[in-house]
Amino acid sequence: MKFDVLTLFPEMFTSVKESIIGRAIKNNLIELNTINIRDFSTDKHKHVDDTPYGGGAGMVINPTVVYEAYKSINNRENAKVIYLSPKGKTLNHAKVLELAKEEHLILLCGHYEGIDERVLKKIVDEEISIGDYVLTGGELPAMCLIDAVARYVPNVINGDSTMEETFSNNLLEYPQYTRPLEFENEKVPDVLISGNHQEIEKWRYNQSLIETYTKRPELLNKKQKEQAEKLIAQKSEN
Ligand code: SAM
Repeated sequence: MKFDVLTLFPEMFTSVKESIIGRAIKNNLIELNTINIRDFSTDKHKHVDDTPYGGGAGMVINPTVVYEAYKSINNRENAKVIYLSPKGKTLNHAKVLELAKEEHLILLCGHYEGIDERVLKKIVDEEISIGDYVLTGGELPAMCLIDAVARYVPNVINGDSTMEETFSNNLLEYPQYTRPLEFENEKVPDVLISGNHQEIEKWRYNQSLIETYTKRPELLNKKQKEQAEKLIAQKSEN
């Protein structure tokens, strides 16, 4: 899978090239390119922005420079172009899975007050937000999207870990434990060291229900809610 990122701050993307995503790049499972929008400015001072028509605070990124940067991308006609924007639909697990099926994503990062509407209309297929708050630029949102989507590209991470984790079945993941067996007088739950895989699976499912009921109850259906309430009541009786 290929990501081409249109940005004014390409250096920021070195930080997404660490760890699992870095390994996926080295193993040619994903390709991540950055295109510096500023390189396409014809202004002698390499300006890319100007004051907004109609007045108001801040600066707006010029449409021509963004369009020229976009046109420098090979095979752009077959790619999906996403503008990271607080006005977009909020990124969620379902959208991440959908995007992981694409072969080529072009991510456009805004800055300052944003980008001239005309070029957005011309090249953007979809606007995506990472939450209802405003950041200074689209770079961190683009990195969130790349990180989340790349995890579902085949072989980037072990398939078992993505199948069981939070949101994969509309439930939050069960609590996880590792060595030491005892930490600050608290022991790992007995069932996890019992070696009984059926019991472990049942315990984990029940813990997922309790976890979701406590932290994100709106994710549960009526039956799951009742099940969680029963488990919590049993726990307080013991
Ligand atoms: N004036 C714009 C508005 O009120 O909608 C906000 C512009 S913001 C300061 C600058 C850039 O940051 C945006 O063009 C967008 O690319 C990015 N951005 C800010 N918040 C974002 C969010 N929650 N999700 C995705 N991108 C965001």
